[in-house]
Amino acid sequence: MSKKNPVGFDVLNNPKLNKGSAFSEAERDKYGLRGLLPAGASNQASQIQRALESMRRKAYDIERYIFLFALQGRNERLYYQLLIEHINELMPIIYTPTVGQACLEYAHIFREPRGFYITPADRGHMHEILCNWPEKDVRMIVVTDGQRILGLGDLGANGMGIPIGKLALYTAGAGIYPEQCLPVMLDVGTNNQELRNDPLYLGVKQARLTGAEYTELVEEFVTTVQDIFPKAVIQFEDFLTPNAYALLNTYRDRVLCFNDDIQGTAAMVLAGIYSSIRISGHEFTGLRIMFLGAGSAATGMANLIHKAFCDAGLSNDAALSQLWFVDENGLVIKSRQELAEHILPYAKDQPAMSFVEAIKLYKPQLLIGATGVQGTFTEAAVRLMADINERPAIFALSNPSSHAECTAQQAYDWTGGRVIFASGSPSEDVSYEGKTFQPGQGNNAYIFPGVGLGAIACETSRITDEMFLAAAAALAGMVKQEQLEQGVIYPPLQDIRAISLVIAVAVAEKAYEQNLAQKPHPKDQSKSDLQKSIKRLMYDPRY
Ligand code: NAD
Repeated sequence: MSKKNPVGFDVLNNPKLNKGSAFSEAERDKYGLRGLLPAGASNQASQIQRALESMRRKAYDIERYIFLFALQGRNERLYYQLLIEHINELMPIIYTPTVGQACLEYAHIFREPRGFYITPADRGHMHEILCNWPEKDVRMIVVTDGQRILGLGDLGANGMGIPIGKLALYTAGAGIYPEQCLPVMLDVGTNNQELRNDPLYLGVKQARLTGAEYTELVEEFVTTVQDIFPKAVIQFEDFLTPNAYALLNTYRDRVLCFNDDIQGTAAMVLAGIYSSIRISGHEFTGLRIMFLGAGSAATGMANLIHKAFCDAGLSNDAALSQLWFVDENGLVIKSRQELAEHILPYAKDQPAMSFVEAIKLYKPQLLIGATGVQGTFTEAAVRLMADINERPAIFALSNPSSHAECTAQQAYDWTGGRVIFASGSPSEDVSYEGKTFQPGQGNNAYIFPGVGLGAIACETSRITDEMFLAAAAALAGMVKQEQLEQGVIYPPLQDIRAISLVIAVAVAEKAYEQNLAQKPHPKDQSKSDLQKSIKRLMYDPRY
């Protein structure tokens, strides 16, 4: 087949090439677009204005999500430039919380396929089907099996909204090229009967694959990726906790991968902790931290904090003794039956007690919520934190907002405005006694784009915990004193590209230090420094 340059509607219907009304006179001649566009030429800035107007006119965020999804499929560069310039307004739509609603309704709002679907029927054919993906230089894969989508549970193939949303943030937030990104849904069925009964549901309508069949399918996927896209980072996303840990433990030393819920979230939280102690004045190594929820997110955080404690001079046991877990059955203690392996190191040799009793006894300075259950930071618990601490720190991290442990307003009200607060999804500004506070968003979106960029830039062969520690320190280093004075513990999201670049440099430096980088350090090649060379790799969607 001869490869002709696309013209006319082949250009307008190609989201990578399409500039819509912004094609210049010369381009209209070159691509045979005369007559196919209105006479008045726009530029990208006026297209952004127009897109914003159309989007803001919609009555519901889910309609805005659908609008943006369609724009991504129509004009990629406009979509990403719009995201970059208006990340504060748009991230809550393409990502949490609205992406949660989009996943719940995915089969009903579906218009065009995006991403890659793998089913149990593809066993033995993975190579063949992955070769159907049109891009050949894939560098970033986000894969889920849809079993624990945000705090919403098993959404089966509807969970595809998450890899798509995350990868949009890799591109907007860290400049990973859209064609290097591959969203993957391992559609192994769903145990959500409501979905299986829904005539419009688009996933595999059978119970989830489990056991050896499940692990063999994942194994075939991972090894085929090594074959076809050997430089790709695999990000495991929103797997049920036992699978999340099992996959991470199986693959972390074998392939280039990480689990964002476990490791990315942990780095984001550690950065928040570093900032919070600049406000409260506590010693890092003296911190007492209590987690509500003992799943992948919370134990991932504890593992990284434990490592940071040990790096800062605490012994293994001392570090463990400053971290407590509470779940729906109270304090996690050794005598409890059937504790999952990932929580065992943190189980205490103590009698059973409730959340509030545990706060009273251990006097934590920081409470971290990762339960996925709304309202679990009760008024009594938060008020107790305020009685014990001059500046109580409370991170209510569950997503979407409807599943958060408490709202920002509650945290400020119940602590007399003294709280150092972060929530997983964005919060409205909070008023307390005439003062306005802007609660920070503690979301792993601060971390994963930069980690991905750094990993891709130096072609590291593995992603290590040390890289997440470096990412956390780099993120915390971006918080300015005046932000801390307002109680804000993360840098402005609007600066996400600058933040991602700084994190990418820290991650790549660590990869060079650990002899994991496979690309020569730019200093050896061109005398330019790492930051400049990574910056040059970043996708710029401006026309
Ligand atoms: P998970 O299901 O593995 O863990 C949930 C934990 O909460 C379990 O230990 C469970 O026993 C406990 N729990 C349930 N109900 C409880 C209750 N009433 N009181 C106390 N504990 C209770 O899930 P996960 O992967 O750890 O994720 C948990 C939440 O964290 C989700 O809502 C997710 O969206 C959120 N999360 C946020 C971020 C972020 O960047 N902000 C990142 C990852 C996960």
